[in-house]
Amino acid sequence: MAARDGSVRGPSRRAVGLLAVLALTLAVAASCASMAPRHEGPVSDHFDGVRFYQVPPVQKGLNEVLKWQFTRESAGPWERDLTRIDTPPLPDRLEDGALSVTFVNHATVLIQVGGLNILTDPIWSGRASPVQSLGPQRFRAPGIRFQDLPPVDLVLVSHNHFDHMDEDTLARLADDHDPLFVVPLANCRYLERFGVERCRELDWWEVMETAKGVRVHGVPARHWARRSLADTNRSLWSGFVIRSDQHRIYFAGDTGMGDHFEEIRERLGPPDLAILPIGAYLPRWFMSAQHIDPGEAVMAHRILGAKKSMAIHFGTFRLADDGQEQPVLDLAEAMDADGLDRSSFWVPENGDTRRWDARSQG
Ligand code: ZN
Ligand code: ZN
Repeated sequence: MAARDGSVRGPSRRAVGLLAVLALTLAVAASCASMAPRHEGPVSDHFDGVRFYQVPPVQKGLNEVLKWQFTRESAGPWERDLTRIDTPPLPDRLEDGALSVTFVNHATVLIQVGGLNILTDPIWSGRASPVQSLGPQRFRAPGIRFQDLPPVDLVLVSHNHFDHMDEDTLARLADDHDPLFVVPLANCRYLERFGVERCRELDWWEVMETAKGVRVHGVPARHWARRSLADTNRSLWSGFVIRSDQHRIYFAGDTGMGDHFEEIRERLGPPDLAILPIGAYLPRWFMSAQHIDPGEAVMAHRILGAKKSMAIHFGTFRLADDGQEQPVLDLAEAMDADGLDRSSFWVPENGDTRRWDARSQG
């Protein structure tokens, strides 16, 4: 995803920054063109034999990227505060039947369910970028220090964008926790480059059973994939549904609006908890195909029939033109306009935890 450093101001510096990003992208593309994932599976309604796709296509062309970069306006300030967040220690394991969800930040969530510890889209790095000197920088410290994580059994990675698939974090998890990594089709190749050995790919609607009877379903998302110029949509993107005997949790990944929310409810049932992105949605002409806005997050909550939703993907990395606090303010407004009780959609602080036992799935 194209994005800029939050400190850049004014068209000329923007242009310089953009050229630097393009040069970097070309260099990365040149170095890994030969390593672009090549999925060998059968053609499907979202794979044409070479690339994954959706109708209409989600990703924008270079002209639109350039138009956005040269016309973009910031809607609000971003302030960098990397003060360490002190949170109470987490239990190593929960008893069967209990569910606990902790917001690290961005799309990184620790889900403790069915005796398993699951991390989504983990990123602890200072930038969401292939290099740590350029690209979107972190504006908030992770809500849990990496060394304070309980043992991690499963890592779910929704797609290959740098704010969701972070090489340093994934390599560190593989070294320190040796979890099983679960990814959409054609993404294990990336993780193997990072030193990951235990990786499992899922197609949309494919399900795997983990230890302790917890099932993980790959589910569709309206999004796209790219880490270099050579690999656009060579790997799939997805959300995940996690089902234990007691709980059903939906993690949306990155997604625009689409009929997949309804399909997920029909096929897998309404989730007890829907984890939905609310940030990186402006300008709408550029972002709406790939990222829902707060109003659409409320619609998704309704369509899914979720008992509760949880907001993610805001306030940590500046990826689009919405201000740092704007997604949260717009979500509150959208809930009020919809008549949705504000307690139905949890907006966590970094490091916040919610816990449900087997009987009170509030
Ligand atoms: Zn993305
Ligand atoms: Zn994202």
